Formats: sequence, C-alpha cells, structure tokens
Amino acid sequence: MNQTPLKDEVLILGGGVAGCAASIALARKGRSVTLIEREPTPRHKVCGEFLSGEALEDLHALGIDLASLGAAPIDYVRLAAARRAAEAPLPFPAASLTRKALDTALIGEAVAAGVRVERGRSVQALGRATGNLWQAMLDDGTTYEAPTVFLATGKHDLRGHARPKDPQRWVAFKMYFRLTPAQAAELARASELMLYPGGYGGIQPVEGGIANLCCVVQQRYFARVGNRWENFLAKMQQDCPHLAMRLAGAEPLLAKPISVTHIPYGYIRRATEKGLYCIGDQAAVIPSFTGDGISIALHTARCAAAAYLAAEPAPLFQAKLRSGLLAQMRLAEFAADGLNNALARAVLPFALRVWPGVMRVTAKLTRVAQSAAIPLHAVVS
Ligand SMILES: Cc1cc2nc3c(=O)[nH]c(=O)nc-3n(C[C@H](O)[C@H](O)[C@H](O)COP(=O)(O)OP(=O)(O)OC[C@H]3O[C@@H](n4cnc5c(N)ncnc54)[C@H](O)[C@@H]3O)c2cc1C
Repeated sequence: MNQTPLKDEVLILGGGVAGCAASIALARKGRSVTLIEREPTPRHKVCGEFLSGEALEDLHALGIDLASLGAAPIDYVRLAAARRAAEAPLPFPAASLTRKALDTALIGEAVAAGVRVERGRSVQALGRATGNLWQAMLDDGTTYEAPTVFLATGKHDLRGHARPKDPQRWVAFKMYFRLTPAQAAELARASELMLYPGGYGGIQPVEGGIANLCCVVQQRYFARVGNRWENFLAKMQQDCPHLAMRLAGAEPLLAKPISVTHIPYGYIRRATEKGLYCIGDQAAVIPSFTGDGISIALHTARCAAAAYLAAEPAPLFQAKLRSGLLAQMRLAEFAADGLNNALARAVLPFALRVWPGVMRVTAKLTRVAQSAAIPLHAVVS
C-alpha cells in the first residue's frame, strides 16, 4: 500500500465521454490533470451510440475524426410500434459510432494532450483530506489528492456521492447484430425507435456494417418474461413486428447482451461542494430515446472546464448547469411519458400520424444548445 498521497492540480474520476472531454480541455490550457479510469482498455458500454449534431461539433473540436473512425451517418428517424411506422428526417446532422471506438479515440486524445491517464484503477471512495484537498482512495489502497475533482463516473455512483434511486427500476440492454443484406440496406442512414409495453428500444447501423439494438424496459415488465433476455427479445418482436422484420435472419454478434440496471432518468444534480464539479451522467441523466446523453456529457464537460478555468466555484457552476438543462430535461421526460401513454391508450395510430412534425420540433428543443451546425460531411463522409 502506498502511504504517501499522490498529488495533482485536477483529478478526474472516470475516463468516459465527460471525463476525457474535460481532461482534454484542461490539459490544452496547460493544467496538470490526472484521470483515473477503472477499465484497463475501453470496452462495450450499454448505449444506443447515436451522436447528435451537438455531439458531432464537440467531438470535432476535441480533435476526434469521426470519418476516419468509420462513423455511420444518420439522416432520419423512424418510429415503429405494433404494425405501424412513421419516418422523419433529422433536423440536424447525426452519426453513430460504437462506444468502444469513441472511448478509445477520446482516451488517446487525452494522452496526446498531456493528461496523466491511470487505467485499470478503480476509485473506491472520495472524501475530504486536510487543507481544502479532496482525497480519492483507489482499490489498491493508493490515495490521490487534489484541490479540484471532476466527478465523471457515469452510471456508477461513488460512495458518499450517490444519486437518488431509480423508482422505475429500468433495465437496459445492448446487442450487436449482423443483419441480412436486404435489412441492412433498409436500415442504412436511419435510427429506428421501437415502442412496446414497459419501455422502448432503438436499432441503428454503426461502423463495420453491423447494427446496434439497444433497449430499456421497466423491471416489472422484464420480470413478466422471466427476467430472461431471450424471452424479452422474443416479446419485443411479438409486440413490434417491425423489429421482427429487421432481425429476421440476423446473426447476434455477442455471446450475451451487455446490460445495466437502475438508470435514474430525469435526474439533475442540485448541488455540489467546493472544488467538486459533477459532469456527464453524474450531472444529468436524460431519457435515452432522445439520443442526447453523449452531447450532454460533452456539454457539461466543456462548461465545467470553462467554469474551473474562470475560477467559478463548483457550487455556482452546478446551479447554473442545472437551470440551463432543466427545460430540456423536462421536455424529454414529457415526450417519453407521451409516447408511453399513447401506447397504453391505444392512440398510437394518431401519435404516428403526427410523429414527423412532433419529432422535428422535439428533436430541436431537446438539444443542449442551438448551434451553428457544421455540415455532417465535414465530420463523416
Ligand atoms: C440504454 C441507454 C442508451 C443510450 N443511448 C444513447 C445514445 O444513443 N446516444 C447518446 O448520446 N447517449 C445515449 N445514452 C446515454 C450515454 O450513454 C451517457 O449519457 C454517456 O455515456 C454519459 O457519459 P459519462 O462520461 O458521464 O459516462 P460514461 O461514458 O459511462 O463514462 C464513465 C466512466 O467512468 C468509469 N468509472 C466508473 N466508476 C469508476 C470508478 N469507481 N473509478 C474509476 N472509473 C470509474 C467507467 O468505467 C466509465 O468509463 C444511453 C444510455 C442508456 C442507458
């Protein structure tokens, strides 16, 4: 065990989207940054892997070349439920890329920017040391101290800094499939959203000619199919024949799906302590169907880095971030409830008729910021 705490100017806990983005921004401004990431190498994460227009812009600014990573362009969204489907063009450029590829590129960019990246090391606890310092205790007993910490552990809460429990007890899955050539051609450049009782899912192409199926369901609905993925997959296809058509003849590419539970959708952090900037899913968790979690992670990272560099205290930053995100988060929750209610009340045919118009408005309003969008071909060919 190392008894002498290691010290740095800024400590970033979690090397996903938000942690990497913040570390790159700070290191580029000459700050000394240590980033601690528990995975030794990036791995698959439960995520729909849709990158919205704002995410594309932020990633471009961070130096991530999405075109060379093979990101798939996405031009329109389809909503499918029961036997009906409706389609709308996206009002902004979008793309999709596996998290493994994205996280690998971000970690590489952080290293290139001069961030000290500690991989394969897990933070067990974060508390106060003496003299206004924060102290992070790692699984091997090592301690790191810094006056400023960015909390970016995503879905995973640190002891003493947990977010509230998720009352719906969401369960989420991701699975990759190789579709038949005909189905892959039908899905090309589209993100398809499927509705079914107790949740929703999405399927879209990612790089390498494969498709990502990512879905969420409330635990009580998952229990009805015996808490088994195979049964849930069959039930989704039964409830949504559009998905059955997409997956006919498809080859699953993972031995089993990746899953995660307890997602506190709608959470926005109210307050923080001096020197502790909370970003990404530790700041706000937007319903997944918006495909906006990554752009929010990048946005919160950029805002937190700017706040720190401008000597804005963390509690003030967190309060401003909350009020800036509130309307977008509430609208996303409202839209999620609206879709579920439409399904429950069997008014889906009507919902599907108005979907293209609603989608265009909602997609615009649920973005983190109105931006002078760079054309997609600038980032994805
Ligand atoms: C079902 C589902 C579908 C989604 N689909 C989309 C989508 O299509 N598009 C989109 O934009 N967003 C989507 N999201 C949201 C998106 O995945 C998240 O909002 C985003 O990943 C948040 O970034 P982050 O940096 O906060 O967390 P992450 O990217 O999860 O990074 C957190 C990092 O912290 C590390 N870590 C955790 N605990 C510790 C510890 N104790 N010590 C050290 N390291 C630690 C983890 O290993 C991880 O690398 C989806 C989410 C879900 C649940």
